[in-house]
Amino acid sequence: MTTPSDHTDRRPPMTDQPASISPEALSAILRDPDDPRYPSQITVFCDHCGHEDTRDYLVSEDMTRQERLAVARQYLVANEGWECDPDGDDFCPVHASTDGLEQRPTA
Ligand SMILES: [Zn+2]
Repeated sequence: MTTPSDHTDRRPPMTDQPASISPEALSAILRDPDDPRYPSQITVFCDHCGHEDTRDYLVSEDMTRQERLAVARQYLVANEGWECDPDGDDFCPVHASTDGLEQRPTA
């Protein structure tokens, strides 16, 4: 039985810093053996057009997949203009604030 690994146990390459934290904060966290957090790549995609946004976010071992996704959503909503509705749908900056989605996309 294989378990897909959705997190990174190894340290990330220094050339690819997480977008949501400063390099200084990241290196401090990685140096601190008592800090359970580590960067993990999380992808959020737009339920309207399928646009994907993949970034590294700080998560900890005991966070569930949903909790990790919530971290990513919070960042995108606060910094990138994304919108996440209570139903769990995510919308990229282009499709955020579509006011109840009255204009349904024709697939
Ligand atoms: Zn979109």
